[in-house]
Amino acid sequence: MKMKKKSILARGTMTAILATALALTPLTALAQGTRIQMPKNKYSLQQDVQLGQEAATEIRRQMPVLPENSEVDRYVESVGNRLIAAIPREYQQRAFRYEFDVVNARDINAFALPGGPMFVNRGMIESARTEGEMAGVMAHELSHVILRHGTAQATEAQSAKYQIPAIGGAILGAIIGGNVGGVIAQGTQLGVSAYFLKYSRNYERQADILGAQIMANAGYDPRDLANMFRTIERQSGGGGGPEWLSSHPNPGNRYELIVQEAGRLRVNRNAARFDNAEFSRIQSSLRRQSPAPTMQEIAQRGAGSQSGGQSGRRQYPADSRLEQRVESPSPRFSTHTLGNIVQVSVPENWQRFEEQTSVTFAPTGAFGNYQGQSVFTHGAIVGVVNSGTNTLEDASDRYVRGLLQSNSYLQPQSRYARASIGGQRALSIRLAGNSSVTGRTEIVTVYTTMLRNGELFYVITVAPNNESRQYNQAFSTLVRSIRLNG
Ligand SMILES: [Zn+2]
Repeated sequence: MKMKKKSILARGTMTAILATALALTPLTALAQGTRIQMPKNKYSLQQDVQLGQEAATEIRRQMPVLPENSEVDRYVESVGNRLIAAIPREYQQRAFRYEFDVVNARDINAFALPGGPMFVNRGMIESARTEGEMAGVMAHELSHVILRHGTAQATEAQSAKYQIPAIGGAILGAIIGGNVGGVIAQGTQLGVSAYFLKYSRNYERQADILGAQIMANAGYDPRDLANMFRTIERQSGGGGGPEWLSSHPNPGNRYELIVQEAGRLRVNRNAARFDNAEFSRIQSSLRRQSPAPTMQEIAQRGAGSQSGGQSGRRQYPADSRLEQRVESPSPRFSTHTLGNIVQVSVPENWQRFEEQTSVTFAPTGAFGNYQGQSVFTHGAIVGVVNSGTNTLEDASDRYVRGLLQSNSYLQPQSRYARASIGGQRALSIRLAGNSSVTGRTEIVTVYTTMLRNGELFYVITVAPNNESRQYNQAFSTLVRSIRLNG
């Protein structure tokens, strides 16, 4: 009896497997559409999972995430699971842990973290016109996860050793503060986070293509992904565009490329059915609720309730206020010693703020919190980073690229120029862009030199263009005053 029962069971299972295999044939066995080359990645799958989990834990602690079994959460999760089931076989990662959360925030945004966790803002759900459009954003995000774009980008840019610590807080800072505006950063921690949230154009193209394939496999019209980009653009009303578009820059002809890929794909008619009625019901239930707060409001609330600051975020005193006008640099200088590495003279009226590996000098009114991130508008930062390379050119380039990623409003104005710091060979480069903090053109100059221990020493000077005259003198005195002992 037992034997027989077992064999019936086994046969039943076999039949089920066969039936599933048949139903899935068009989607998993036959790869359809353009093939994508997985980018080079020196991280392990487990590291992807670990980094993503750490960041997700931090995000759930600090962002208003809707309850696990709320109607909206369950709905988004069901769409997510449908997409996961539609991942082409060659891109499936068994180690990954997919999770879907809805953030009660008004901004049109969504993001996914290495190894699986995905967060979709209420604003994104409310702005989509159909379930297909919402699924399009999710399929695109999911593609970044399975192609491991976060850690691939980090692989391209920096050493693994440098990446791991304090990821959660850093990512959170970048999400809340956004890549837009005024954050002169600190390439160290914030630069790290940018790798996970702002993708290169090449990776964008890949996520669009794979996203379209997943859509078709899941039974959605892949053109809905293309449509969603237009829907989001329309909603941004020319106001600089929502955060999502700046984290997922247009690789060029985005709409056309997705539609072209869609032409190569067959929408899987065997996929579980969906209808927009469910989506409309969820959407109108959301619209009846009180409007979600903006990320900025969330950040401001958060700032009051957190003590001790967050990892990766520079905290100026809570009462510091950013002013449009700040005092000109004092002609008198005072000399500071920073660890045993460096000595530097700065205008007497600049205050000093210490971080683990850098010090910021800025006058009152030029530092404070802006959209949840610490920013400064006039002054200088002096610090060190692990370079992960031997040549000054490589190390400088990596550092500056990180800086540009976390301050996407800045553009290089020139190539690197030769400079000298503390009698050593150095490079300098000028960046400029329109700061959303001051509303003025900001000039940022980065000086770099290698220390004997292999670390990169940097000085960053920052001032609005129309105050350059007052500041250039101070900056050049500051740079010339530097003494390196290392
Ligand atoms: Zn993207």
